[in-house]
Amino acid sequence: MHLRYHMMRIARRRAAWAILAAAFAAPVAFAQTAYYRHVVFDNSAQLKLYWHSGAVSTMPSMLENIDYRLPVESKIFRTPPNALRVAWESKPNGSWDAEIHVANFPNRYPELSGRQLYFWIYSPEPIAAADLPNLMLSDARDSLQVATFPGSFTETVALAKYIGADLPANRWTQVRIPMLELKSASVYSFHPERLQNVILMQGRADGKRHVLIVDDVRVDDDAQLAAAPVLAAPENVEAKGYDRHVVLTWQAQEPEGFDHFVIYRALDGETFEPIGIQLPGTHRYSDFIGRANAKAKYKIASADAANRVSAPSAVVSAATREMNDDELLTMLQEAAFHYYWEAAAPNSGMAFENLPGDDRIVAMGASGFGVMAVLVGVERHFITRDQGRERLEKIVSFLEKAPKYHGAWSHYMNDATGETMPLFGMLDNGGDIIETSFMIQGLLTARQYFNGTDAREQALHQRISKLWEGVEWNWYRDKPDSAFLYWHWSPQWSYQIHHPLIGFNESLIAYLLAIGSPTHSVPASMYYSGWASQSARALEYRAGWSGSPDGNHYKNEKTYYDIKLDVGVGSGGPLFFTHYSFLGFDPHLIQDKYTNSYFDNNRNIALINRAWCMDNPKHYQGYGADAWGLTASFGPNGYTTPAPDKANDEGTITLTGALASFPYTPEASMAAFKHYYRDLGAELWGIYGPRDNYNPTLHWVSSHYMGLNQAPIVVMVENYRSGLLWKTFMSNPEATAALKKLDEATRAESQK
Ligand code: CA
Repeated sequence: MHLRYHMMRIARRRAAWAILAAAFAAPVAFAQTAYYRHVVFDNSAQLKLYWHSGAVSTMPSMLENIDYRLPVESKIFRTPPNALRVAWESKPNGSWDAEIHVANFPNRYPELSGRQLYFWIYSPEPIAAADLPNLMLSDARDSLQVATFPGSFTETVALAKYIGADLPANRWTQVRIPMLELKSASVYSFHPERLQNVILMQGRADGKRHVLIVDDVRVDDDAQLAAAPVLAAPENVEAKGYDRHVVLTWQAQEPEGFDHFVIYRALDGETFEPIGIQLPGTHRYSDFIGRANAKAKYKIASADAANRVSAPSAVVSAATREMNDDELLTMLQEAAFHYYWEAAAPNSGMAFENLPGDDRIVAMGASGFGVMAVLVGVERHFITRDQGRERLEKIVSFLEKAPKYHGAWSHYMNDATGETMPLFGMLDNGGDIIETSFMIQGLLTARQYFNGTDAREQALHQRISKLWEGVEWNWYRDKPDSAFLYWHWSPQWSYQIHHPLIGFNESLIAYLLAIGSPTHSVPASMYYSGWASQSARALEYRAGWSGSPDGNHYKNEKTYYDIKLDVGVGSGGPLFFTHYSFLGFDPHLIQDKYTNSYFDNNRNIALINRAWCMDNPKHYQGYGADAWGLTASFGPNGYTTPAPDKANDEGTITLTGALASFPYTPEASMAAFKHYYRDLGAELWGIYGPRDNYNPTLHWVSSHYMGLNQAPIVVMVENYRSGLLWKTFMSNPEATAALKKLDEATRAESQK
């Protein structure tokens, strides 16, 4: 017993140290897993309705809703900037239910931590205890279908039971529900840690209209909420004004019991109002004011889980100002760069797959793109050259130690240990040649960028060469004479996933690097037998991608909206096909038997994508000449790959689509950028710049960012402005060698 107590104390002290160390480390990086093990709802990213909610009523009862979701209340809240609005009339023979769902972003830990459910309610009118709604909890998204096994829901209880009195007007009241006391009313037992759904529903049919504002729904333990830690005000607060927004940065300790930061703003110079919160580990905040020439003062406080705040920081001020196009592009690059800089994983320096997400999981491809974003950061003076090199050294050290599968890395790895994380299931525990290609593309660019005479730059150059030369590209053919490269190989499962790399998609870079490898190359003829294959397997594969026979022979040659497409599946596919392989590899220089210029072909894919959005045959809201770009992201239907065709256009615009197309369509990309930022920035602009996507038809706005989508913006905007990454990558002799071999293969192919 004594020993165990001792061990627990040590563990607690270590945890406190780790938190303290993280608080002092700069740049701070943290993906907030711990925060989301408690928080069910804090604020809505959508300003009109809350996406992760449900609101349904049956006549003659009524529940206020927007498209069957709860409206957002932005005047009365506990944590700024908003809360949820539950407004109802309960009548005999009617019913209503208002549901607040746990927001399940990708890799969210599927468990909440704590025995009590807390939330706060507020009403502008007093409500008699008997007229308060009923409540039910559920660990599944219930509707009239067989619940997801073993999903369940609790008995119905009166909310009044947890308040014990009539609800007074104009005062926040806390509701505390011991979840273990609630019996299951379903065929399975109820597990509070799996809570998915907090449901308020019709109680006594008093026929009157009532309004409850609900905020700060969380699962926790009493001791945690009662602890009242002593919190210090953030220090060294700085504010910098941009075109329509202000960025705040600060330093702060995050002792045990700290939960979030609260940001206050005064637009008139004296009346401070709370405008937002920031989560643990992130010491930056982006305040979108929405107009130029606004002067604002700010202060910041630390808060605990009950939203009790510390003394405020010193006051700082900034002003917005109209920026020219060049300044706007630098602003865009800098914001998105921070995803890979200050929000990078603390041990490896690599990038997370998505934010918020899982603190452990770093992603290879996103990190490879991030390497190039770091180079832009140096070039644009967001960081110093030494800082950029040091970050590269950290990443390279991690990659040197991480498990390699014939020289290739896995898709996902553990930031702390480097271990492979088989996120896509048991077969995914080996090398991923596509993700490895994206990393090698980044590393080879970095190798040429840090080419000074400085001994440290030279050492980095050599270490990168060793990693690149260690990749056994030729191993990723399942047989020595295989026509294709294969995506995966695992020491346990061999080539069981057996996914051949067939163009047109994002896999071109794998063939080009494999052909150019000085140590483990594949014959350049694989460009034609694999990427541009004419085999039956390839025809079927391409049609499967696009749902159309167009381009199933790799060459397409059809015209869409008067724009000719030499090569490409369907009407071009998602725009990431024109970004990922071309962050470093200059598409101006790639030509083959079927197209004279990959640059022109990529530009045409972007133009077709835009023309489709302007035509908008599926009649979605918000599309237009300045709102276009269908490509992969995590949208309202999960991770999908929207493309300009009827089957794949779901009304979701992914911001990186138009923004990473800057080199191809500078004017149309600039129009989209200004629309996303100046017109829609209140919802679409955050601390890492453009949010992942939005769907105006559904009132959906993504509340997160993806590592695969932010860096292509930074990099392709730079390629548009200066050609930096293209020039730097193409200065690799291996890139030139690959092109030369490709030309020879093209000549041989053309003579067939
Ligand atoms: Ca709130």
